Amino acid sequence: MSGKSNSHFYTIEVGDTRFTILKRYQNLKPIGSGAQGIVCAAYDTVMQQNVAIKKLSRPFQNVTHAKRAYREFKLMKLVNHKNIIGLLNCFTPQKSLEEFLDLYIVMELMDANLCQVINMDLDHERMSYLLYQMLCGIKHLHLAGIIHRDLKPSNIVVRSDCTLKILDFGLARSAGRAGTSFMMTPYVVTRYYRAPEVILGMGYKENVDIWSVGCIMGEMIRGGVLFPGTDHIDQWNKIIEQLGTPSQDFMRRLQATVRNYVENRPRYAGYSFERLFPDVLFPAESSEHNRLRASQARDLLCKMLVIDPEKRINVDEALMHPYINVWYDESEVNAPPPGAWDHCVDERDLTVDQWKDLIYKEVVDYEISKGRLLQSVSVHGAQGCKDEEVNRR
Ligand code: AMP
Repeated sequence: MSGKSNSHFYTIEVGDTRFTILKRYQNLKPIGSGAQGIVCAAYDTVMQQNVAIKKLSRPFQNVTHAKRAYREFKLMKLVNHKNIIGLLNCFTPQKSLEEFLDLYIVMELMDANLCQVINMDLDHERMSYLLYQMLCGIKHLHLAGIIHRDLKPSNIVVRSDCTLKILDFGLARSAGRAGTSFMMTPYVVTRYYRAPEVILGMGYKENVDIWSVGCIMGEMIRGGVLFPGTDHIDQWNKIIEQLGTPSQDFMRRLQATVRNYVENRPRYAGYSFERLFPDVLFPAESSEHNRLRASQARDLLCKMLVIDPEKRINVDEALMHPYINVWYDESEVNAPPPGAWDHCVDERDLTVDQWKDLIYKEVVDYEISKGRLLQSVSVHGAQGCKDEEVNRR
């Protein structure tokens, strides 16, 4: 990349991780870590706003990492919705493909992830608003042909004003075997929120994501994970113990080996939703309004936590449900759809070096187009874009 100079970057240790970042980003503080790397909060001195910076160390270190990094980055560029995290910038401090090591992604900064909020005593207003926003974000992904299948509290972030954004784009289509692909990191993948059709390796449709929303809602009410299995088998047991053994009609749709296993489990009648989520778990019922909300919340829950996807509510129905519908805003629910996602990326089998090449090209393309944009904005006299940024090219 011509024009990239070391003088634009500085290095700082954050915990055990070294961040080499553009000088415009100052005051780094670690805020989280995931399978892909460390995330820091920082202050962007150019745009004069707080941001989150995620470091992806050697994103091409193996095929699983590389595919995920490439997919997430492409999707972040494609999708534009207030309930999906927005990409603000992206860069690598290395100057050539040969040297390429690390990728930094700059995003909007949020205050906490949902794990930190889920156990708080949320009132109906907050709970239904959070769920509404999740559904708007999910609907938007579905419109681009992206079915998430792996929504979980750690990948959903919120602000103290109760606004919410989804952080990632879930499992690639080719990860059809429930994302079992080998990953060499000490990071433990949370599977508690995955739907029965994902756990049991069945076909799936959009309402696979409703199951995850149901699990998150149930956890908000109960204050604990609903189906905390140590593995898929244990998790399936937890599901049927509470919700009951599914119908023969459901069993018939399973692959022979899975069906054999599922049919040979002990039979459970399951519990009513009044037993699973008793009144005492709901926010204080001081008013008639609150009592109504609690019964609506339970009604929504029992329509989302349905093992058989054929009988489970879909996203549009959930958005119309009285518990959620109070927030309905056409411009949020039916925001302009993103371009269609090219699923070829999910099915592509490339070597680590080919992935490295592709990721590097994407970053350079982004840096160049962003540079051009800033240059044209600065020619036309827009505020806030300092020369330092433009001069990098
Ligand atoms: P990730 O590597 O994307 O799975 O993120 C790991 C954790 O970092 C999340 O669970 C959040 O706690 C935090 N995090 C990631 N991105 C952001 C962001 N844009 N704003 C606030 N926190 C974030």
